[in-house]
Amino acid sequence: MHIHPKITPIYQSSVFKFEDLNELELYFGEPGSRYLYSRNGNPNSDELAEAVNRLEGGASAVATGSGMAAIFAALLAFCQAGDHVLCAADIYGGSSSLLNQELSRMGITVTYVPFEELYALDRFVQPTTRLLLCETMSNPLLRVADLRRLADGCHGLGLKLVVDNTFASPVITRPLALGADVVLHSVTKYISGHSDVTAGVTVAADAAVAARLKQVGVLYGLTLSPMESWLAVRGLKTLHLRMPAHSRNALAIAEFLQQHPAVRAVYYPGLPEHPQHALAQEQGGGLFGGMMSILLADDAAVVNRFMQRSQRFPFAPSLAGVDSSLSYPLGTSHRYLTPGQQAELGITVGLVRLSVGIEPVEELLADLAQALG
Ligand SMILES: *Cc1c(COP(=O)(O)O)cnc(C)c1O
Repeated sequence: MHIHPKITPIYQSSVFKFEDLNELELYFGEPGSRYLYSRNGNPNSDELAEAVNRLEGGASAVATGSGMAAIFAALLAFCQAGDHVLCAADIYGGSSSLLNQELSRMGITVTYVPFEELYALDRFVQPTTRLLLCETMSNPLLRVADLRRLADGCHGLGLKLVVDNTFASPVITRPLALGADVVLHSVTKYISGHSDVTAGVTVAADAAVAARLKQVGVLYGLTLSPMESWLAVRGLKTLHLRMPAHSRNALAIAEFLQQHPAVRAVYYPGLPEHPQHALAQEQGGGLFGGMMSILLADDAAVVNRFMQRSQRFPFAPSLAGVDSSLSYPLGTSHRYLTPGQQAELGITVGLVRLSVGIEPVEELLADLAQALG
């Protein structure tokens, strides 16, 4: 019997068989020729890692059980007890919670760098500083980092640059090509794209760093299951079609909301008024993604009414699916910051984050118009 599936089937097996001791030695002697145990490697998770690695232009990648695991793996690839990291102050809430609540217990300390000071890192560096963690486009205010300038700054100080590229995706920006050392994703978001997978991936520019990532992934048990990998690969095949569609819809919505009297501010890098618009234009090749935040009146009743009325933007605290949604940074991703930190970042009662999907844009515009009316 000859079976030739067109796409990779799901290898839903935790372990693989060997004929005898000779074949076991071939596994160790010819890396990549065979599989042993799915935590160490599986055809589906390897296919996902390799596909993202190719898009990001890295040496190698590891697929992880979540975006958080991808961040953890990246930090542990470079850091040990006694080390210090720099982190952009505008960062996903989970990233700062990981650093503050868990890595601090392992003896890895952190200093947060305000957005305005990201290009003057020497003021924040200590002898034990290893790296800077930042996002291409920050969550939730869509501040855009100049990655080439950051990479030059980091390398001049002997630091590695680790970039969370979740909001941009490699269709919009490829951080390794701009000098970053590691790029990572919450695959849960645009890479898989259909709100049905939790996964992550970490890609290294350098093969030795990639080997460290792989070891951290395997020994901490961060690696991804076959089914989730398969779903993510399936989603990834349309990433290059989805990102322009998300971007087109988001720009039309940002322009509409900017004119709306109930909206006090729109944070979207595609708008000419956005402080990093020119940088975003250049770094993103003319695409700005599907994420934006809007400021309504700082009044919970106004926010609740908007959430209750909107049909096409359900309040679902994630992002980047083909179907639109909205989220609320103050109550979800940035809930555990101090009130001072929240205020400093502009995360107030009226701030709502929109994840614009790829539905017909007239339907989305009509829904927002009635929800704000
Ligand atoms: C969601 C998200 C994460 C965390 O990813 P999970 O898949 O939820 O673990 C990290 N960074 C950014 C920017 C995110 O949006």
